[in-house]
Amino acid sequence: MKLEKKFKTAFAEKLLTWYHKNKRDLPWRKTSDPYKIWVSEVMLQQTQVDQVIPYYHKFIEKFPDLRSLAEAPLSQVLKVWEGLGYYARARNLKSAAEKIVAEHNAVMPATHDELIKVPGIGPYTAAAIASIAYNEDYPVVDGNVYRVIARLMRIEEAPGKKGTKTRFVQTARSLMPEGKASDFNQAMMELGALVCTPNRPKCRLCPVSFFCQAYQTLDDPSVLPIKEPTKQKPHYNVAIGIIWKGGKILIDQRPEEGLLGGLWEFPGGKQEPGETLEECLEREVREEMDIQIRVQGPFLTIPHTYSHFKITLHSFQCQHVEGEPRPKKAINWKWVSPREINRYAFPQANKKILDALLETL
Ligand code: SF4
Repeated sequence: MKLEKKFKTAFAEKLLTWYHKNKRDLPWRKTSDPYKIWVSEVMLQQTQVDQVIPYYHKFIEKFPDLRSLAEAPLSQVLKVWEGLGYYARARNLKSAAEKIVAEHNAVMPATHDELIKVPGIGPYTAAAIASIAYNEDYPVVDGNVYRVIARLMRIEEAPGKKGTKTRFVQTARSLMPEGKASDFNQAMMELGALVCTPNRPKCRLCPVSFFCQAYQTLDDPSVLPIKEPTKQKPHYNVAIGIIWKGGKILIDQRPEEGLLGGLWEFPGGKQEPGETLEECLEREVREEMDIQIRVQGPFLTIPHTYSHFKITLHSFQCQHVEGEPRPKKAINWKWVSPREINRYAFPQANKKILDALLETL
C-alpha cells in the first residue's frame, strides 16, 4: 500500500508525540537489553500486561541473562512460568536460549534475518526484538496493532482470508517512518491498548482520529476488525485423583512435547460415555499408571478453558491399593509429601486444586 509522504509524516508525528506523553511505565521499557525485551514479548503474546508484570520480574530475577536461562533445568523454568499458561512459550524460549548460547556465544543475534533463523523464535518475535531492541525497520502486528490498522484504513476483510495477514503487515510497514521502528511499533501497540480498544474506542481522545477512515465514515468504528465467527469449544469431564500412600501424594510428569508439556499433574483423564467419574478415575489410573486405587470421595470441581476446548475438572481423594506406578505416557512420577509438592510446576487448573488441598491440610 502506497501512502502519501505527507500523510505518513503527519500520522507518525501525531502518534509519536502522543506516545511520548502517554506511554505506560512498563518494566521492559526501561531496558534496551534484547534478551529482556525478548522475554517480555514472549510473555505478552496471549497474556495481558497486568498479568505479565509480576512474572516478568520473577523470570528476570531468576534468569537474568541468556546463559542462566539456557543452563537452568526446564523444570525450574516451568516453575517460574507456572500460572502464566501457554507453556510452549517457556519451552521455546529456553530451547532458543540454548541455541544462542551454543551457536552465538551467548550474544543475541542483532538483525531480524539472524533472529528468525533461531529455532523457537517465530516471525512475530523476530520482528519485535529487531525493531524494539535494535530499532530495525520491521513492523510488528499484534492484536492491538491489527485492530488499529483495520479501523484506520477501514479494512473489512475476514482475518482467516488468504493474504489478510500480509496486507496488515504491509500497511503497518507503509505507515512506519524510517529509523523510528522501536517507538513507532510500541506506540501503535499502546494506542490499541489504551485508546483504540476493542469495545468503545476513545475516538474523541485519539491522536490520529483525523486520519482514521473508520472514525470518519462509520457510526461505530468498533465493528472493525471483522471477527471470525466464534466456534463452540468441545467440553470434556476430566477426573483426577489425589492419590495417598503413607502420607505422600502421587504426581506424574507430562511428556515434554504437546499440551502442558513437562508439567506435573495429578493422575487421571477424560470420562468415557456410560461411566461414572469414579469409574473413569479408577480406569484411567489403571490404564495410565498401572496401579489400583480406591476412590474415597470428591474434593474440588473447577471449570477450565483451554484454547481449543473446555473441561470440568473433578478431583477426588483416593487411596493407593496396590502396584508400583508404571506410566504409559508420563515421563516421570513421584510420591511427594505435601511439604515438597510446591517445588513442582503444575498447570493452572491442577494448581488451583493443589492450593485448595494444601489449605485444608
Ligand atoms: Fe481507533 Fe477511533 Fe482512533 Fe480510529 S479514531 S484509530 S477507531 S480510536
